[in-house]
Amino acid sequence: MERELILSRKRIVSRIKELAREISSDYTGKKTVFIGILNGAVFFFADLVREVTIPTEIDFMRAASYGSGMSSSGTVRFTKDVEIPIKDKHLILVEDIVDTGLTLTQIVRNLEERGPQSIKICALIDKPERREVEVPIDYCGFQIREGFLIGYGLDFNEQYRSLPDIYALKQ
Ligand code: IMP
Repeated sequence: MERELILSRKRIVSRIKELAREISSDYTGKKTVFIGILNGAVFFFADLVREVTIPTEIDFMRAASYGSGMSSSGTVRFTKDVEIPIKDKHLILVEDIVDTGLTLTQIVRNLEERGPQSIKICALIDKPERREVEVPIDYCGFQIREGFLIGYGLDFNEQYRSLPDIYALKQ
């Protein structure tokens, strides 16, 4: 399939440094847990937490949306849960893309029940046009309008995750 370069690795890295600086300054002196949402956020998460200068814990969740391909079905099931205690801690959820917003809404609702001190969202990419439920993105890497994205963790039917840059698939 043809693809068009949307975000180079260089641009991504430089934006991540800015996000990490902002987050580090906002959370100084607080007990934080960065929670990566697998699999898409894997590289973003790894690059971000290594730029963060405050001490933090890390953990992962995996939410699988039923179905595959280009659209989120809206029904999410958790196939991996966080394992470290999160009560009274400040959670920063690290997500690849917020599209309809359905996945993150369910993750946040689920985590809220466990009594964290706060929950904020850091997303590499915001696709605001397709939003179905409002999701407050506290730290946003890029707003993108162009099509379906692959690379840097993002997949199309589990392909292309390992590409170092982000592309839009051309149909
Ligand atoms: P939402 O529930 O519609 O917000 O979908 C969020 C999830 O769908 C993201 O975490 C991605 O895994 C996936 N997704 C949404 N848009 C794209 C895209 O353009 N490329 C790859 N995955 C996407």
